Amino acid sequence: MDLVQRAGVDVSDWSNYAGKASAANPRYCYEWAFVETGRVVVLNVWLNQIEDVEGVLVLSANMRAAAEHHSEGARDADAVWRRRAERFDRAVQLAARDRLPVRLIICDGRRRQLGEAQASKVSKRMLDPVAWRVASYNATSGDFTLKRGVPAVPTVDQFDVETTQEHPNETRSVTGTAYVRSAEVRRAALRRADGFCEYCGERGFETASGETFLETHHIVPLSEHGPDTPENVAALCPTHHREAHFGRRRDAIREHLRSVARAAETVALPAKHGPTP
Ligand SMILES: [Zn+2]
Ligand SMILES: [Zn+2]
Repeated sequence: MDLVQRAGVDVSDWSNYAGKASAANPRYCYEWAFVETGRVVVLNVWLNQIEDVEGVLVLSANMRAAAEHHSEGARDADAVWRRRAERFDRAVQLAARDRLPVRLIICDGRRRQLGEAQASKVSKRMLDPVAWRVASYNATSGDFTLKRGVPAVPTVDQFDVETTQEHPNETRSVTGTAYVRSAEVRRAALRRADGFCEYCGERGFETASGETFLETHHIVPLSEHGPDTPENVAALCPTHHREAHFGRRRDAIREHLRSVARAAETVALPAKHGPTP
C-alpha cells in the first residue's frame, strides 16, 4: 500500500477498511492495477516479465488473454484472477488513451503458472523510481508493450500539423509562394527551442495529440534571400510569430531572434545539426 501511495495513487479512503483483513479491501494491494484518473496508473508486475531490448527495458504481455484463461477455470480463485486481469487490461488501455505515466511495482518471488491452483508468493516488492509508458496497445488482441522512461515531449510546428493531416509522407513543405523549406532545419530549430518560444520564453500550447506546438519562422525571410539554415530559423509561439511578421516592433524582434539563434547554434549546439540538405 505504501508503494502504491508513493507512486501517486490517493489511498486516503483505504483507511476505511482498517481492521478488516487486507484481502477484503477491494482496493488493497492484492489488486494488480491501480488508476488515479488523469494522473497515473500503477501496475504490479513480475521482475521476470521485464526484458532488456537493446538497452531499453520492455514489458510485453496480454492481460485479456490471461482473463480469458481464468474464465474457463472453475475455482473461486479463477473468478478473482479473471477480474484482476481484466482490471489490469483496462488500466493499460486507459494509460494508452490518456498518455498517463505508468509506475511499476516490481515483484520477485515464486510466480504462479497459468493453470496452477497455488497462488503466487511475493518475496520482494519495489517501486521502480522511473516512470514507464505504454509504447503500444493492440485494441483487437489486447497485446501491449510498456517501455521504461518517458521521452521528452516532441514539438511540432505549423508544417507538421498541415502535412500530417494532408500528406503524411511528405518531408518537404512548400509554401504558397513555393519556397522550399528543409524539414531537417525546422526540426533543428524545434529541438533547440525545446518547447519554449525563443522570443518570450513561454511554452507553446499542447496539441490534441499531446505534442507541444510552436511555429517555425525564418528570421530573415526566404523572400529576402535569408538562408534556410538553423541559424536563420526561430521557433516561436503563434502570437510572437505573427508579431515578428506584422508587429510595429518587427525589426527589433528580428534583431533579437538573430542573436538568440546565432548564439544557440554556434555556442551551445555546434555538432547537432548537419549542413542544410
Ligand atoms: Zn512568444
Ligand atoms: Zn514566419
